[in-house]
Amino acid sequence: ESPPSPTYLDRLNAEQRDAVLHGSGAIADPLLVIAGAGSGKTNTLAHRVAHLIVSGADPRRILLMTFSRRAAQEMGKRVERITREVIGEKAAILADGLTWAGTFHAIGARLIREYAPIIGLSDAFSIHDRADSADLMNLVRHELGLSKTKSRFPAKGTCVAIYSRCVNAEADLEEVLKTSFPWCLDWVAALKALFAAYVDAKQAQNVLDYDDLLLYWRAMVTEAGLGEEIGGRFDHVLVDEYQDTNKLQAAILTGMKPDGRGLTVVGDDAQSIYSFRGAEVRNILDFPGLFAQPARMVTLERNYRSTAPILEAANAVIAQARERHAKDLWTERTSTAKPKLVTVREENDQAAYVCEEVLAMREAGTLLKHQAVLFRASHHSGPLEIELTRRNIPFVKFGGLKFLDAAHIKDTLATLRFADNPRDRVAGFRVLQLIPGVGPSTAGAIMDALAVTEDPVGELAAFPIAAKAREEWAGFVALVSDLRRRAIAWPAEIERVRRWYEPHLERRHEEDADIRKADLAQLEQIAAAAPDRARFLTDLTLDPPDATSDMAGPPLLDEDYLILSTIHSAKGQEWKQVFVLNCVDGCIPSDLAVGTSNEIEEERRLLYVAMTRAKDALHLVTPQRFYTHGQRSRGDRHVYASRTRFIDTSSLDRYERCAWPTAPRSAEAAAARAAVQPVDLKAKMKGMWR
Ligand code: ATP
Ligand code: MG
Repeated sequence: ESPPSPTYLDRLNAEQRDAVLHGSGAIADPLLVIAGAGSGKTNTLAHRVAHLIVSGADPRRILLMTFSRRAAQEMGKRVERITREVIGEKAAILADGLTWAGTFHAIGARLIREYAPIIGLSDAFSIHDRADSADLMNLVRHELGLSKTKSRFPAKGTCVAIYSRCVNAEADLEEVLKTSFPWCLDWVAALKALFAAYVDAKQAQNVLDYDDLLLYWRAMVTEAGLGEEIGGRFDHVLVDEYQDTNKLQAAILTGMKPDGRGLTVVGDDAQSIYSFRGAEVRNILDFPGLFAQPARMVTLERNYRSTAPILEAANAVIAQARERHAKDLWTERTSTAKPKLVTVREENDQAAYVCEEVLAMREAGTLLKHQAVLFRASHHSGPLEIELTRRNIPFVKFGGLKFLDAAHIKDTLATLRFADNPRDRVAGFRVLQLIPGVGPSTAGAIMDALAVTEDPVGELAAFPIAAKAREEWAGFVALVSDLRRRAIAWPAEIERVRRWYEPHLERRHEEDADIRKADLAQLEQIAAAAPDRARFLTDLTLDPPDATSDMAGPPLLDEDYLILSTIHSAKGQEWKQVFVLNCVDGCIPSDLAVGTSNEIEEERRLLYVAMTRAKDALHLVTPQRFYTHGQRSRGDRHVYASRTRFIDTSSLDRYERCAWPTAPRSAEAAAARAAVQPVDLKAKMKGMWR
């Protein structure tokens, strides 16, 4: 007789249960769950992990890859809750063992550091975020003389984007330029030279950028022959949001698990929105045929998230898509409230509308954090942020300006990074120039000296520094020496850095030094939660905390706040009420995307992702006039906009359509005005003196 099945299985539908039970808790043939938004893919994945653990799998041998660190943490908590039902208190210990959960990049960073000595890297490598990469690209560009003489050479950010695209899509430079950066086609040879020099610079400085974390991982499990070794450390490898992986990530999976055994991937081809970063929707479509033993495929069709009117509107948007695997979804969540299609005059009205509706919903009992405002690009929330601030409505913004972008945070992190890896020129330039009397050329000379020495502290101490800077310099050398010797335990050493840095901060940012100091205090709190310096720097670089409306205050952990997010960062999440800003042509689809039909299709999926985040209420807002930012040489300007083309006339009756401020009120006002008898006030004024 078989043991009674755990109660958590009762909460799943038959297909979800199939996916959870596939292989009965043992290492099994590859599994693909492909299904639409809100059908419980992530939930099913959490149950599968829980079921594996309950069935005896070692959590330390489970590799779980998600879209963000936050998603990984939530998954961990969910797994603990589910397993607790069966194994009680032991659940916490086992969930703690689920240490290999995170983004591809974060896991890559850990594995590369571990195997660094075997693959010719120093394990003290530092990781560059996109801004650091752009800075390094810029340094290299100057060295090659590619910026002064050739004024129309692509900007540093564009160079990084092109480079990154080639790496992630494993595509040829010319091909990438033709399809995505046609205005850069004149620079093929120069870009090739630049990228070659950029790679040399990274290696000389012992630096890896985001793309390297995938590139080296892939190379480790293929060319370097470590596939069996690394793959063998994990019995189960599970991936959420598989539709947004690229070729490198697919190659990493097959490199680790050539027969696909133990592999589970989950995703929705209709939600693939990262092709601009080289994501390949073909990855998920081709998955079943990758292995000798074909993958088991499970599809889910019931949506548990949204009410029927919202789901039907979203289905109508995606139904027009050219090519799609997953079928339409159905739900049992009936409602009479249709999604709203709201016309406003311009973006300030849009902001006011959102504030009023958010507060009304709050009054009716829905917390702010169960409501979200989504937009295409980070700068679209500008007017709304101003309005929210004016009305004292707290908010958190995801996918926008990061905590890390602040100069004082960068200075602090660069100090730690420089101490770890004194060859890192981007970090070095930043830190050295904090010291009064050290300018770009001195910093350059110091970095040149550090590039060839084996004794960085000695080199720094002996460097002929100008007399007036000597005292400051000695303090700096002592700091670097302490950090390199690890004279102070983690995380107290970050306080040591802060004490050294504060006078510099006060000198440079007199006006708002106190606010910035509060940020540093917050950084110390984050540090306290990290096991060591390397993990702290890696996690923060790969997945920085988001900016809040109250950066200076304590973290808003227990407070209520509205969520602002780019659509890209809203992936996988859900809220009771959702607003989508600027649902107009030129924004969704973006002006920038109105090129190939592939780009347009991706924009359609983006709107689908946005709409399917809503559980109970959805507002698509369309300003008649909106502001576009310097797009492709057309400059900033106001444009008159019309409703997004993805909502065609035939589907308009799926929406409640309204104008705001409400039409009746302005009609009443006009009627009131018409009723007033004209008087000649001018004559009256004159008459006063006659
Ligand atoms: P997305 O495509 O947006 O990532 P998803 O397919 O991963 O969505 P989930 O986020 O896992 O969907 O689930 C959506 C919602 O439905 C969640 O609130 C989840 O708790 C709920 N849900 C999932 N499965 C069930 C079920 N069998 N019974 C009740 N609720 C469920
Ligand atoms: Mg999900």
